[in-house]
Amino acid sequence: MILDGKLSRSFEIALSELESGGVVAIPTETVYGLAADIRSSIGINKIFALKNRPAFDPLIVHVADFASVPLVAREFRPLAQKLADAFWPGPLTMVLPRRNDLNPMITSGLDTVAIRMPAKEITRELIRKLGAPVAAPSANRFGRTSPTSAIHVENEFCDHASILVVLDDGPCPVGIESTVITFESNDSKQPAGRTVEKILILRPGAVTAEQLARFAQVERVQNSVRSPGHLRHHYMPTIPLVILPNACSPSRSQYELIRMKLKKNVLHPGWMSLPDDPVMAARLLYANMRTAANQPDVNCLFLPFPLQERRSDLWMGISDRIEKAATIII
Ligand code: AMP
Ligand code: MG
Repeated sequence: MILDGKLSRSFEIALSELESGGVVAIPTETVYGLAADIRSSIGINKIFALKNRPAFDPLIVHVADFASVPLVAREFRPLAQKLADAFWPGPLTMVLPRRNDLNPMITSGLDTVAIRMPAKEITRELIRKLGAPVAAPSANRFGRTSPTSAIHVENEFCDHASILVVLDDGPCPVGIESTVITFESNDSKQPAGRTVEKILILRPGAVTAEQLARFAQVERVQNSVRSPGHLRHHYMPTIPLVILPNACSPSRSQYELIRMKLKKNVLHPGWMSLPDDPVMAARLLYANMRTAANQPDVNCLFLPFPLQERRSDLWMGISDRIEKAATIII
């Protein structure tokens, strides 16, 4: 890959930071990540400390090529390989049985590991040069909105800006975190020798249920036990977010409800909006949230979004993030 002068210098700095057990913010097509070499316990610990992330929330391992999967997973079943062929590099994370020698901090002590191959060429090149996969959650404080540009990362960690290296490769084209899936086989219910496999969606994203259904039966799992990081509140902006069913101002009684729930008057709501095209809506969701929340004097965000109508395809992933980012849904 050919890098221009400025990027080439940042690339070298990012690489040497990773090589010395440090943490680097990396661009991916979904959101920016906070990466460390999977072989470095110090680096992995730094990720949790910087993010304030609880140890029960596992990280996603990012690989540069198919050959690296066996370095972390002890099994890459044929269905998983087919999905990797179809969607990697891209926003699909697969939860697979992990190798025993993988640092248990990465997987929060689980017997499985989440793996994906990011679509940004510069990040795959960084991983290739490092010579090992990286573990990387989104580059934000725990529970907060994910960053979709380098400047978001810098703002999020401004108190650490002098020590945090951010590899800038422009805005993230997808804009929401990867689809996370796992597999379930029910051999016992089938005639001898036949295994029927199901794909379980643990977190919806840009690789949709419809796309996955071409390969196997698909089920959406709401149960947070299977995917430990999925708490009721996540992706939250710095001020409360209220979801309205339409673009009209809330009625008097709705305002009263908001006041009661927030325990304060909404004097200056910051209105945010999303494009009608889901690809653009996903891309701009977090950036618009940050811009609206940063307006002077605004103490609450209003987002008109018909949640009930938007439960298919890419809208499903967007609705999931909006519901978890919301303080109140009207
Ligand atoms: P992120 O903060 O976007 O990097 O998200 C990582 C998320 O992937 C975690 O919060 C989990 O929900 C999910 N994940 C990672 N590893 C596993 C695993 N072994 N089993 C189930 N879900 C996982
Ligand atoms: Mg995250």
